[in-house]
Amino acid sequence: VSIGVVIKGLLDEAGISYKQSGKSFITACPRCFKRDKVYIRKTDGRFVCWVCKETEGFSGAPEWVLTELLHLPVQELRRLLYGDQEYKAALYIDLNLTDFFDADDDIPVSIDVLPAVEPDPGFRELDSPAGEAGRNYLLSRGVPLEIAKEYGIKAWPAKNRIVFPCMNKGKLLGWQDRYIGPTKYFDEEAQLVVTIPKALTSYGLQKDRVLLFGDRITGDHAILTEGPFDAIKAHLCGGNVCTMGKAVSKRQLTLLRMSGIRKLYLALDPDAFEESARILIEMSSDMDIYDMRPPEKYEDIGAMPMEEVRDLMRNAQKVDRNFLFLYLKDHYDYLAS
Ligand SMILES: [Zn+2]
Repeated sequence: VSIGVVIKGLLDEAGISYKQSGKSFITACPRCFKRDKVYIRKTDGRFVCWVCKETEGFSGAPEWVLTELLHLPVQELRRLLYGDQEYKAALYIDLNLTDFFDADDDIPVSIDVLPAVEPDPGFRELDSPAGEAGRNYLLSRGVPLEIAKEYGIKAWPAKNRIVFPCMNKGKLLGWQDRYIGPTKYFDEEAQLVVTIPKALTSYGLQKDRVLLFGDRITGDHAILTEGPFDAIKAHLCGGNVCTMGKAVSKRQLTLLRMSGIRKLYLALDPDAFEESARILIEMSSDMDIYDMRPPEKYEDIGAMPMEEVRDLMRNAQKVDRNFLFLYLKDHYDYLAS
């Protein structure tokens, strides 16, 4: 039985009214309540709400729209949709939106698109002569050139910074940078110690609405880290993304959910224990959660060699809702209850 037939059966049984095009089931959105805005693709069940896609990332695997339409638990829907076969994770960025339509359909215009920006003209390639300082800085942080290029990192010699681009579905939304020199110096003239901000976010980037390196989620898991260096150190793990800050937004959790992952590895800094605990509560009914905090001798994942981060993932403990993330002064431990 194809997934489209299962979905049709579920909609019929629940008495949900819908239209059909050759490629999609079309119905009202359970979030924005707008008519004919949710398209569910018959071939694979992937769905999109043309309004909520941009504002809340509401698109992806069918269980996420069906759970809100039918008020059935996600686990039960997965059993109905996929049976016993291995659940196939799919990329939210992979959604080819034109595949929802037939040639003669009107394609809805989505609203509130995250705006793309132009890179600063001062950016330079890391492997150019102007990229030398940035290249060396990255190497000193344990990131070789080839890997840095894979993440699109640029040098910004005019500002003495390196730049982590925030790409979303191939679009540049902004960037976060790192100052690569000493961040404190004594200004003789002013007779003051001057502090230079280490990390700046480009103007207009709504960092609570995206995941840095989000395009790296290609399988059934994600590694959730705090800073760009933490994420890059999890390079060998795959699915390594970064929140760009201590707080993890609702929207970022939605993006993780919609990506179709089944396992989430929490690799936030140890002092973000409250945030980790909150994410565990919010996400554990939808996916397996693993504790991937760094061992005590490291301040964060970013301080670890890549191979050790990979091993940390392999040995990460699966945790349940009763798990307590503890953080005591400068060391931490956990208690399972
Ligand atoms: Zn909607």
